[in-house]
Amino acid sequence: MKTSFDNFPDIRDGVRALCAQFPDEYHRKVDEQRAYPEEFVEALTREGWLAALIPEEYGGAGLGLTEASVIMEEINRSGGNSGACHGQMYNMNTLIRHGSEEQKRKYLPKIASGDLRLQSMGVTEPTTGTDTTKLKTTAVKKGDRYVVNGQKVWISRVQHSDLMILLARTTPLAEVKKKSEGLSIFLVDIKEAMTKGMSVQPIPNMVNHETNELFFEDLEIPEENLIGEEGKGFKYILTGLNAERALIAAECIGDGYWFTERVSKYVSERNVFGRPIGQNQGVQFPIAEAFIEVEAANLMRFEACRRYDAGEDCGAQANMAKYLAAKASWEAANACLQFHGGFGFACEYDVERKFRETRLYQVAPISTNLILSYVAEHILGLPRSF
Ligand SMILES: Cc1cc2nc3c(=O)[nH]c(=O)nc-3n(C[C@H](O)[C@H](O)[C@H](O)COP(=O)(O)OP(=O)(O)OC[C@H]3O[C@@H](n4cnc5c(N)ncnc54)[C@H](O)[C@@H]3O)c2cc1C
Repeated sequence: MKTSFDNFPDIRDGVRALCAQFPDEYHRKVDEQRAYPEEFVEALTREGWLAALIPEEYGGAGLGLTEASVIMEEINRSGGNSGACHGQMYNMNTLIRHGSEEQKRKYLPKIASGDLRLQSMGVTEPTTGTDTTKLKTTAVKKGDRYVVNGQKVWISRVQHSDLMILLARTTPLAEVKKKSEGLSIFLVDIKEAMTKGMSVQPIPNMVNHETNELFFEDLEIPEENLIGEEGKGFKYILTGLNAERALIAAECIGDGYWFTERVSKYVSERNVFGRPIGQNQGVQFPIAEAFIEVEAANLMRFEACRRYDAGEDCGAQANMAKYLAAKASWEAANACLQFHGGFGFACEYDVERKFRETRLYQVAPISTNLILSYVAEHILGLPRSF
């Protein structure tokens, strides 16, 4: 299918060639078994795609978020689900931009070689949800360690990662001037933490997405695992969150192209009432509309990535790209399911799997409503609603 954005042909060709070795049947089986696509993630790691953002001096490819987003887009466009491995991309910039030289030397070469995975980020909590600055997990300095107590929810890929970036409060909310102050981020060695006070409770969910509840009881983290300055973690985590939004936008765009391509092929071949169903404008228009919206969302995705790579403020663009792309992929998913008729519900067509996967992005990593309120307040200057 011809789209307006076949830029970065070398990256696209490389990722497509790898993804071709993992056809629909592979992803379908992994989904049915509720398994982790270990071989697929291994192959992406071996070929260096998940080290795209790591600077060359630490063994990576030294590419930008734009290129990283193309990699994620192609995975989803091939029928796969980047949700199994996108954490490494969005966490990476938090470590690269705010980590110390010592931390980068210690971890980045091992992540680039595939000896370590940095796939998890622990932000969300059960009682405070989107109201992140009110989170209740605390990290209290005791000598040369921080002692962590609290709880997180929906923390993904913990069972398939070695490292996690954890956000916790280091200064009580009552003692800070601004609620975004007094939060810090830490690199957690997951396997070690699981023997020293962190427990992991998997959450079965609608998508085949490995995600968990985490409980911390006097987990000790060495002070050298603090990233950047104590108390500035919220600002640092936003680096990762903006990257995450732009990357998720690219994944939704990959999904959107997958849905429109699949459904266009199907409606061209499926004959009912003696002609292809795709000859009816009632069938054509929702597909065409979804395609137009995916293409438009793609413009904002590349603008968000461009600004991110240039070190410019990209909060508005990353949020708007994620909003537009998640909406467009959802509309494409709906059209694809609808025009497959009953067959859309059969697992062997892969439509219902991709439909479930793309639905997530209306809620996570940030809900559509929260993006609207961000734009209303920060772009349009409307009164703060919460
Ligand atoms: C499969 C999955 C994987 C995830 N992975 C991770 C992860 O790896 N790490 C991590 O930290 N988090 C993760 N999350 C958490 C995700 O980021 C949150 O679920 C999301 O930000 C929404 O927060 P919440 O679930 O607490 O919803 P709530 O904050 O309870 O909000 C529920 C709904 O209420 C509405 N709402 C809330 N406040 C407002 C408001 N002020 N104005 C208007 N509407 C409002 C929104 O529509 C929202 O969808 C994951 C979630 C899922 C489902």
